[in-house]
Amino acid sequence: LSNEQNVDCPTFKLLIVGDGGSGKTTFLKRHLTGEFEQNHEPTVGVEVYPLDFFTNRGKIRFECWDTAGQEKYSGLKDAYYIHGQCAIIMFDVTARNTYMNVDTWYRDLRRVCKNIPIVLCGNKVDVPSRQIKPKHVSFHRKKGLQYYEMSTKSNCNFEKPFLYLARRLAGDAKLSFVESPALAPTEAHIDDIDVDCLQLLGMKLNLKCFIMRK
Ligand code: GDP
Ligand code: MG
Repeated sequence: LSNEQNVDCPTFKLLIVGDGGSGKTTFLKRHLTGEFEQNHEPTVGVEVYPLDFFTNRGKIRFECWDTAGQEKYSGLKDAYYIHGQCAIIMFDVTARNTYMNVDTWYRDLRRVCKNIPIVLCGNKVDVPSRQIKPKHVSFHRKKGLQYYEMSTKSNCNFEKPFLYLARRLAGDAKLSFVESPALAPTEAHIDDIDVDCLQLLGMKLNLKCFIMRK
């Protein structure tokens, strides 16, 4: 892995966006090994979480930019997006409007960051009464994004978005993590296998709809 900014530990600016309440801050706070840093850019008002991951090709650091809650009232300023190198768009599977707004977040992001890899994350899959089921999630396919279902409360799929982005940034589809970061204890239980199955089922249903339309 190499990147101009830091030879010892390649560092990438990761933007995390999505409606307020989706679980962005909770997600970043699960990773316990990164020390917490306050960014001193007063006009942007962000908190930066430097999260490290150990790969078979060395350490990689994501400097994750999280908002201080201003996404609840309006969009984010360009200063937030500028020099972003990868991104996560998060929505809450228990709140339909957070999925409806993914398109707006995507457009805001793309306006400043033309070609960066983006992961779409559907969070809170531990909640049984979800409004957005895997079969409803189609946005990522139209835009060529990766999609993961997750539950930050149960650490389910925590590493998946980071691994996907690390592979894209390194240009190595076989890059792997060699050790797991320390994570906060789980507050809900859900099997990763269940989530993978749900995702597969969603893909199959979408394929069926696609064939039926043809
Ligand atoms: P943000 O506004 O996107 O940063 O969202 P927060 O991280 O502040 O989370 C909003 C609320 O959702 C909080 O009450 C969290 O405890 C809750 N939350 C976050 N992730 C999960 C999850 O995976 N499952 C459940 N059930 N609740 C979650
Ligand atoms: Mg937040």
